[in-house]
Amino acid sequence: MDWQNLPSSGGGVDDRRGSGGVPGGGLAVGGIGGLVIALIAMFFGINPSSITGGSTAPSHTQSGNQTGSQAGDTTYQFIDKVLGSNNQVWGNIFQQSGKQFQKPVLVLYSGGTQSGCGTANSAVGPFYCPSDGKIYLDTSFFNLMKSRLGGGGEFAYQYVVAHEYGHHIQNLLGISDQVERKQQSARSEAEANTYSVRLELQADCFAGVWGNHVKDQENITQTDVQTAINTAKAIGDDTLQSQSQGSVTPEKFTHGSSAQRTNWFMKGYQSGNPNSCDTFGIAYNQL
Ligand SMILES: [Zn+2]
Repeated sequence: MDWQNLPSSGGGVDDRRGSGGVPGGGLAVGGIGGLVIALIAMFFGINPSSITGGSTAPSHTQSGNQTGSQAGDTTYQFIDKVLGSNNQVWGNIFQQSGKQFQKPVLVLYSGGTQSGCGTANSAVGPFYCPSDGKIYLDTSFFNLMKSRLGGGGEFAYQYVVAHEYGHHIQNLLGISDQVERKQQSARSEAEANTYSVRLELQADCFAGVWGNHVKDQENITQTDVQTAINTAKAIGDDTLQSQSQGSVTPEKFTHGSSAQRTNWFMKGYQSGNPNSCDTFGIAYNQL
């Protein structure tokens, strides 16, 4: 595949790598607790205990947006182009439906950094923070994918970014807010989890929609698609649960099973149409 063909984000990546991480390493404390954590679009199935809710987003005065200085930095260029491509694809989709579009910032960091949703570190994996509208990505996650989560691969890494971008789309469309309200009125954790699963599978589908729109542009092969499927399988809740606890507890699913994640990604990839991603409009056991 030829990701170099994709457009640059034009400064959308806030490169905080090498900035020394979080001073003191302390946690941002907020009062929203589990609800915000549930909404933090965790890509990886780890309980985000190191992220605590916080509605007061720390402001960042320093920014690493000097696009010129990243020449020769393949990771930066790769991320910049995935972001730029998502901006382009989703900008067009929003324009066609007459909706207001806003680009997200992607924060590239190493070790730890502050987010509008609390302290981010590499243990939590990539996530989207709805309150500051930014995607947080520690590139060491790509190494983890390579060694433990399905083997990695360029299109698999793009799928991760596109999934987080999908959460940004949900935020713009007001879906994240609706889910938060439903979770607040849920009678049990199991019920609240079903909304999380629907949200996450829709983000997988949105990632597929993006893939559909770039498959010719970057010459995606069936082998490339398989790398994304391998990742989707590796991060399915059933797979992660059976690895960590030796059994599967469906009512604790927050992201969906391996089969569901694969199916919804492929649904978006084949259709290229976000309307095919209505994970909220069908019965839960039909997902
Ligand atoms: Zn997610």
